[in-house]
Amino acid sequence: MAAPPNANLDLATRQALAARMRFYRDLGLTELYRRPVDPVLLKNLLQSAVSKPEVEVLHEAQTVIPIPVEHDLDSYNLEETAIPPRKPIAGQPEIAPPVAPAARAAALHAIREDIGDCTRCALHTGRNKIVFADGSPDARLLFVGEGPGADEDAQGLPFVGKAGQLLNNMIGAMGLKREEVYICNVVKCRPPGNRTPELEEANTCSPFLFRQIDVVRPEVIVALGATAATYLLGQRQPLAGLRGRVHAYRGSKLIVTYHPAFLLRDPRQKKEAWADLQIAMRELGLTAPAKSQD
Ligand code: SF4
Repeated sequence: MAAPPNANLDLATRQALAARMRFYRDLGLTELYRRPVDPVLLKNLLQSAVSKPEVEVLHEAQTVIPIPVEHDLDSYNLEETAIPPRKPIAGQPEIAPPVAPAARAAALHAIREDIGDCTRCALHTGRNKIVFADGSPDARLLFVGEGPGADEDAQGLPFVGKAGQLLNNMIGAMGLKREEVYICNVVKCRPPGNRTPELEEANTCSPFLFRQIDVVRPEVIVALGATAATYLLGQRQPLAGLRGRVHAYRGSKLIVTYHPAFLLRDPRQKKEAWADLQIAMRELGLTAPAKSQD
């Protein structure tokens, strides 16, 4: 079997490629395809870029093939790679009957009990702790992220690393405390290397998320990033097409914004994220607290 085209890249190049892929994913570009590049065009491009350590070939706006200039072109497989058909995002169960506020904590506990020491998907092999949720069962506002990272996996709580600190700041800017909201993820176990959950993993784990949402029944849900938006809304769309408006979702209002980890990588987008949170605040009837004069 032929080696994948990037198998011969050095570690630094592969890490740079992975970082670029995460950046595109955060922008909502979740489907990237590798297509053949015209060898003549490629050689011309490489010759025109001999002073650069690496050349990125952008093809049809969705293809990224980083190629070190010192690499022998003949070792690249430039044949067309068959593009597998898109697998469907799993359908969602009907909305469960409302749970009385006094019974919500017990209902959430029951969901956690059902998860147990879960081995339903491949993510169980690399996890340290299952990360179920954090926050109030009576929250009016519920945040959904993608999956646990290293800090979350170690502590068993969602959003406790640097991205979590930024989320806490965002919650504070809305005039709320972290304990007043509910925070959970599409998958409960850390994907290795913080990669995006595979479709099968997200489809397997997300029924627990839907049950959590149905118990808490928040007025507003904020989907943090493209993965959360994709599996909540059941559709693959760039983030740009989903942000800036209110979606009806399982009896709640859903707003889509950037994942805090993306905002740490590209702080210029914080203004856009704040605009999204202001939509959530408007729906909740919240006003931002006055800034301290200190
Ligand atoms: S990610 Fe979800 S379905 Fe997969 S093992 Fe963890 S708890 Fe189970």
